[in-house]
Amino acid sequence: MGSGTPYFIPLEEAVEIALKRRLSPDSEEISIDKAFHRTLSEPLSALTNDPPFDNSAMDGFAVKYSESKNPPNNFKISNTIEAGNKFDNSIIIGEAARIMTGAPIPKGADSIIPIEACEVDEENQIVTLNQESKPHFIRKKGENFTENEILLKVGTLLTPEKISLCAAMGHNKIKVFKPLKVAIISTGDELRLPGEFLEKGEIYESNTFGLSGLVNWLGHEPVRFSSVIDNLDKLRETLDTAAKTCDVIITSGGVSMGDRDFVRKIMEDEGEIDFWRIKVRPGSPPLFGAWNETPIFGLPGNPVSSHVVFRILCGPWFRAQTSSSQPQESKIIVKLDQDIKTVPGFITLRRIHLYESEGEILATTKHHQGSGNIASIALGEALTLLGPNDTGKKGEYCSALIL
Ligand code: AMP
Ligand code: MG
Repeated sequence: MGSGTPYFIPLEEAVEIALKRRLSPDSEEISIDKAFHRTLSEPLSALTNDPPFDNSAMDGFAVKYSESKNPPNNFKISNTIEAGNKFDNSIIIGEAARIMTGAPIPKGADSIIPIEACEVDEENQIVTLNQESKPHFIRKKGENFTENEILLKVGTLLTPEKISLCAAMGHNKIKVFKPLKVAIISTGDELRLPGEFLEKGEIYESNTFGLSGLVNWLGHEPVRFSSVIDNLDKLRETLDTAAKTCDVIITSGGVSMGDRDFVRKIMEDEGEIDFWRIKVRPGSPPLFGAWNETPIFGLPGNPVSSHVVFRILCGPWFRAQTSSSQPQESKIIVKLDQDIKTVPGFITLRRIHLYESEGEILATTKHHQGSGNIASIALGEALTLLGPNDTGKKGEYCSALIL
């Protein structure tokens, strides 16, 4: 443990420790209609070539390239080949086949001339090619991917593009991980649901709503519990239920040093703690361990801290459960346009606004940076990822996490 900051561990170490508790999410087969934002649990190989046959990339005429040299040249129009044409078409010397985009190339042709470069004499069914035909306007069988080729690996998060790819590969059903059920539990006597009347000393409970969104974003299933008052028996009861009904538990609040930080207390006395407190600001007090063998993240109660810690600590853990690197965090390099307060030895995540100037992306803070100020992260554009040795001085470059 480092001198001066006993018991705080670096983020990377915390992630590594947390990863020792692994779950093996089940797999299920689903229709690709339901595949959006699901994660592949098996590699996916193509059931066909793409394209499955040589076809035209243009509306125009299919001809033999050697006959199209030294334009203009006249050809007899043999027939018309549409997309979906199922006949064995062919052309002979002196012929051109009228062809549509996506239609199969007739035997005897090895190039296409787009319609715009032709003059058609409809009456005599003659076409004059005013340019050489183009071999590259033929989309060759298998040029995009080939049958049996593995295109998507385990852990692929299915975006709309990837779902279309699954379909083009010939799959109507695919195997994906079942989402993990994630209990999300807020703690605190002061918490009221939005929509309710705030009594003296009370605030709106906001963390579980945002944390549910983050769990959804990672492709898992949030189960939002009612907020638990600061009482050991009530907390125990809720954690027991959560461990029975869910795969993972995320709590918010009650993990600091205070007498009424009951999540930490109950975990110390009755749970298993793998680590407590990490070298990040804001968000240094999280703990991780297990409650009745169910992995549990005890996130800080301050709204900004709970979001930040989820992104940098829970995110990597959840991705690893499905061997996924997605959804990926986007990071960019920014230049600080003001001094930003850092904590030596810690990763500092301030909420920043970005703007471009002279080809660089500059960063400043706009909102009050208190970890209780949810507006700072909701309205900010990025989080600084100032490292343990960064000074945070104006003019310094640092990595930033896009919000
Ligand atoms: P705690 O970690 O329980 O000491 O809480 C730290 C601060 O975060 C306190 O000001 C709490 O009122 C606030 N807080 C705790 N939980 C929530 C929550 N679920 N939503 C909004 N604020 C919270
Ligand atoms: Mg509390």
